[in-house]
Order: sequence, then C-alpha cells, then structure tokens
Amino acid sequence: MHTAFISHPDCLLHDMGSFHPESPARLRAIEDALTASGLMDKLERHAAPLATPAQVKRVHTPEHIALLDAVASRALSTGLAYLDPDTAMNWHSLKAAYRAVGAVILATDLVIGKKVKNAFCSVRPPGHHAERDLAMGFCLLNNIAAGVAHAVEAHALQRVAVVDFDVHHGNGTEDIFRDDPRVMMVSTFQHPFYPYSGVAGRSERMVNIPLAAGSNGQAFREAVNEFWLPSLEKFKPRMLFISAGFDAHRDDDLASLNLTEDDYAWVTERIAEVANRYADNRIVSSLEGGYALPALGRSVAAHVKVLIDS
Ligand SMILES: [Zn+2]
Repeated sequence: MHTAFISHPDCLLHDMGSFHPESPARLRAIEDALTASGLMDKLERHAAPLATPAQVKRVHTPEHIALLDAVASRALSTGLAYLDPDTAMNWHSLKAAYRAVGAVILATDLVIGKKVKNAFCSVRPPGHHAERDLAMGFCLLNNIAAGVAHAVEAHALQRVAVVDFDVHHGNGTEDIFRDDPRVMMVSTFQHPFYPYSGVAGRSERMVNIPLAAGSNGQAFREAVNEFWLPSLEKFKPRMLFISAGFDAHRDDDLASLNLTEDDYAWVTERIAEVANRYADNRIVSSLEGGYALPALGRSVAAHVKVLIDS
C-alpha cells in the first residue's frame, strides 16, 4: 500500500499578505522538495474534498462557524479581514480551511479503509491553535481535531492519540479534547512562548512537555523517550494523528529550538513503531507550522520518507 499525499490548489489561494510567514509558498516548497527527492513518485496523490458542515461542527461551535462566514464576507469588500493581529482571511480563506479539514477527513477514511498505508496532508491554513470557539495563531479550523473526531465518531475507534511536535503548543487541540477520554495528546513546545499555554493543562492524557529556548534535538528526543513513549504505550492508541509543524527547526526564525531533519525522521520512526504495535499502522499526518522554506521542504521530505518506508 502507498502513502497518500493530500492537498488542493484552493489551499494556495488563502493569502494573508506578502509579508506574512504563513504563505502559499510553503506548500510549493514542500512539493518542490518531495519532487526533487524523488519521493513524490512514490506517493498516491489525492485532491482534498471540502469538509461538510457536520464534520466541522463536531469540533467547533455554531457561533465560531458563523463568525468565520461573517469575516469571510467582510473580506470580500476589504480584501483582508482580521480575526487577531496575526490571523486574517481573504475571500478564499474559508474554502481553503474547509479543504484543509476535508483533507484530514479523507486521510482518515483512506487509512482506516485500508486504501492507503498512511497519509500526509499538505494543507493550509494550519489548525492546532483553533479552539472550539476561537480562531487564532494563523488557524481558522482545527484540521487534526476534525480528523480525530471523525475517527472516534464515524469509525468508532476507542482510543486515538495526537502527536504534536510543532514549536508552539497546540492549545486548540487541547481545548477540544481536554475532557474526552477517547483522545490522548502528546506534545513538545518551546516554553515560555506563544500561545503561553500547555504547562498548566498537563495531565495523564495531555502530555505537554515544555522545552526551553535553545533546546536541541537531544533534549527533544529525551522528552519523547521519557514522557511521550511511556504514555503512548500505556494508552495503546488505535490510531495516531500527527500535528506536523516544522517550526522547531534550527533554521526557523519564528522560534528558538534547534531541531534538524534527522530529528523529524527519528520521531516519525518512533511514532511509526507505536502505530505498528497498537494501531494497525494507522497514521495521518497534517502540516501545521514551518516557515523557513528550504528547511520546511527538507523536513517534510524526511518525515514523509519514513511514512513511505514504515
Ligand atoms: Zn507553530
């Protein structure tokens, strides 16, 4: 079976201005790196469908969905309409956000249906900062959370784990699943740093591990070995979802951790081992952050190569 690569041209149309780091060029850098490394030829390409309103409502309030509709309408006359100082919508953003959720839903169906081995969703806007009732931090809808909700509700999986190695804490995912015993989250993030959450929310199912600015791959691997893996072993997830942010890379100027492509390959191998033991190899990965374009391309290639080879 193949690894699926799921994206959509609509994800390139969401544009928050020429100086915004969360840019359409990110997806082009990923495709270029996968093509140059020969990995694209090994992937099974799928176009992301639009998520349905019902799929989005599993993880967001009707008020949140109505607000995004209203802001999207405002963008029609203003060009860009802001949700917070860093997060804006143009006329295409809503469509892109529904494609991003739709990609993770499709990935979930393909993986559980054994049509593909695992999947990587190359989508934007990212999702892990989007709370049930709040858009923030470049995120409109929580793509990974919608996939997790689809796995536990439409496919009745009993236990699902989210692995989040983005440099920022996935406050949105925690907000959505904090009280759901079917979902565990393991994460590392630079702390103290935006969005300044995570440490307070730590619990047996919210395994949030802060890393100090300047931490390198060794500190990251120790956190994974010491905290993530024992927690995952205990929880025995039936499927793993990866919030795959690559902004902890040492070349990324938005943050101050010092991971490399090798660290992303290494952690993907560890995740694949857990998936192999407990989850019938079921992994869905979806892009979150990562803003240094050459490093982003190389890191995604390292991550996807492990998904292909696992
Ligand atoms: Zn991030």
